Amino acid sequence: MREKLPALRVVWVAALSAAFVLFLTNGTFWGKATAFFATNHPFLIGFTVSLYLLFFAVMLTLSAPYMIRPVYSLIFLIAAGASYYTDTFGVMIDRDMIRNVAQTDAAESSQLITAGFVIHMLVFGVLPCLAIWLIGIKRRPFWSDVWRNTLWITGSIIVAFAFTLTHLGVFMPFWQREREVTMSYLNPVMAISSTVDYGLREYIRAPYVAAPYGTDAKLGPAIATAKSPTILVLVVGETARAQNFSLMGYKRDTNPELSKLDIVAFKHATSCGTSTAISMPCMFSHLGHAGYSKDAAYSSENLVDVLKHAGLKVEWWENNTGPKGIADRIPTDLIAHSGPADLCAGGECLDEILARKLERVLPTIKDNTVLVLHTMGSHGPSYFKRYPEQYRKFTPDCRTPELTTCTPQELVNAYDNTVVYTDHMLARFIDILKSRTDASTALFYMSDHGESLGEDGLYLHGAPYALAPDYQKKIPAVAWVSDTYASQFNLDLGCAMAKGDAPVSHDNMFDTVLGLMDVKTSVYKAPLDLFSACHKSGVASN
Ligand SMILES: [Zn+2]
Repeated sequence: MREKLPALRVVWVAALSAAFVLFLTNGTFWGKATAFFATNHPFLIGFTVSLYLLFFAVMLTLSAPYMIRPVYSLIFLIAAGASYYTDTFGVMIDRDMIRNVAQTDAAESSQLITAGFVIHMLVFGVLPCLAIWLIGIKRRPFWSDVWRNTLWITGSIIVAFAFTLTHLGVFMPFWQREREVTMSYLNPVMAISSTVDYGLREYIRAPYVAAPYGTDAKLGPAIATAKSPTILVLVVGETARAQNFSLMGYKRDTNPELSKLDIVAFKHATSCGTSTAISMPCMFSHLGHAGYSKDAAYSSENLVDVLKHAGLKVEWWENNTGPKGIADRIPTDLIAHSGPADLCAGGECLDEILARKLERVLPTIKDNTVLVLHTMGSHGPSYFKRYPEQYRKFTPDCRTPELTTCTPQELVNAYDNTVVYTDHMLARFIDILKSRTDASTALFYMSDHGESLGEDGLYLHGAPYALAPDYQKKIPAVAWVSDTYASQFNLDLGCAMAKGDAPVSHDNMFDTVLGLMDVKTSVYKAPLDLFSACHKSGVASN
């Protein structure tokens, strides 16, 4: 029977199969990708060709004799099944979805097998399977095919990567913004990787269990004997870089409010990582940049747990993409899910929402408390959405997430406006804290990482640390304490202010916060506490 059907060279079989899967079982993916690049057709064409070449390279890699028919059939069937659910129900085939499928019983799954599903599977799954089993596949002598195929595969990969690397300015914003909302629909890549991920998690890799850390923590005499509460607001995030803070030497006045306050501005601060997913767990862990790994960080309790062990009330107020597992054991308010319309739109809120909550909650606080505020800050690429109209100080400002379509100056203007707004928010938090004249209040702020604004063709952040420009690693950091705090804890403000010129990093946050709250524990490292040497007469010296 095979002889009656046309016979194709193996390279053509791989090329046609790649085209079938990429273009006929990816309706959702292409819908989203073409919408994102609607104004940039040349890039869309290059992107499509690159993606096709990668699919082709993978298919050709799997084209060995005896392997090609069963493996291709499996790919066709997975792609057909996944595309039915994705394109019909908008379902993302992620790890949780695979878990759902794996844990579905027969009665439930039989309800999913509808006429529409069967027809879809026949056309997009069974038909290509029949074709691959019925056609003849022409091959050259074994080593000749290996040699030719290797050339095809290497050439395809080189062209795809060359295109990506020469278009990083367009590709990176897409990747960072759309990785989760568009690339996750790429079929059958997502279905296969989710299945592998699910299998690894379920059967091989145990879930993270945070080992107890600093369980001997208790409050020192300065805080334990005070009649009124000590309240620290710890502001973390987001995407603020030191180069655009006038407090850190920027020539534009982006810190009109903080510059009028008695604060410690750390002029030489660096981040642990270049992305939220690395910097956040790192700054809350005791590991420091040199000792950080995801496994180590999530296998141990962190700063918020140690504060809790000491008997402090700790809360996490989230106005960004989530606390990244750091706040699993403390109360968390996912504020963006409940914000009023004047501050929130499309699931995102201006940071003013955190200030309003602070205004509301602060007068009611009776216990020693640490409030962690994860801000929206300068989160890109939609910088223009981070500040309200009255903080649109620098114009014209870039009003689109497609950063490469703005001029460099428009981009910097928009980013600087986010900094002006962050400056306002920090000053506002401090202003609210001052209203509790009876309490000892303090604020400590560190950005999680910096940002590239088109320098050397780089945008956003997340570059590998060793290669990342300083723009992604130099961060603003600020500390402020109330007069009541300074006298209760005998903090020498002159000494504290002088710390602004010292080199600091995320490595300092863990011990500085313990020191600020007078927490005594064996895991405290005084040399890393920025203010350990600034307490007069030994009070709060750990
Ligand atoms: Zn971040």
